[in-house]
Amino acid sequence: MARKFFVGGNWKCNGTAEEVKKIVNTLNEAQVPSQDVVEVVVSPPYVFLPLVKSILRPDFHVAAQNCWVKKGGAFTGEVSAEMLVNLDIPWVILGHSERRALLNESNEFVGDKVAYALAQGLKVIACVGETLEQREAGSTMDVVAAQTKAIADRVSNWSNVVIAYEPVWAIGTGKVASPAQAQEVHDELRKWLAKNVSADVAATTRIIYGGSVNGGNCKELGGQADVDGFLVGGASLKPEFIDIIKAAE
Ligand code: PEP
Repeated sequence: MARKFFVGGNWKCNGTAEEVKKIVNTLNEAQVPSQDVVEVVVSPPYVFLPLVKSILRPDFHVAAQNCWVKKGGAFTGEVSAEMLVNLDIPWVILGHSERRALLNESNEFVGDKVAYALAQGLKVIACVGETLEQREAGSTMDVVAAQTKAIADRVSNWSNVVIAYEPVWAIGTGKVASPAQAQEVHDELRKWLAKNVSADVAATTRIIYGGSVNGGNCKELGGQADVDGFLVGGASLKPEFIDIIKAAE
């Protein structure tokens, strides 16, 4: 089965209501390949999710940037998966490296979140990736496999999971992985899924790349056999996000 190209825009903790409306207007006016060719999902901060959902073109979808690990309740400051479902937010990004690093989210905690979100009916963009230190120590695949295993140990149905391979050293740094570097990890990750989950999951699960993707480098990266799209940070706030969506063609 062909894997549909996926382009996610992670707006992180950026924007005012006015800026957000401006970005949405730009997206709404863009000529991009059809939904049969590319799935586009943008992820504004929580407070802007209902606004963005209400004005965004219907062929693009929205994602939250996080959700709580279990049912809501006495967890001040958190937002539950149930609330996202209640607001018809279809997607959530989990395990972003900024949360793993700054908020000490462990592999197991991320795995629990992924399992809980899926069980509530959300679709999940699950992020994995190594630091520069880990890459230089030759442990990239061990790190990425351990992060993926924590998810695989808790999830049996992968049909609503997209894996985002995001090397930490490439996120927000302008140092994009070379197409060969990205392809190598995506290929290894797919082999890991084949060996440890199933051949079918390996063949059908989209593995997207994230880390300093822009309008200039997206075409070559997206042309790699095992790169099924992108998770884009900084460039998703700019008009060049449209060029990145067009890399699906
Ligand atoms: C990200 O935050 O997921 C990301 C890939 O950021 P950037 O594109 O800015 O490197």
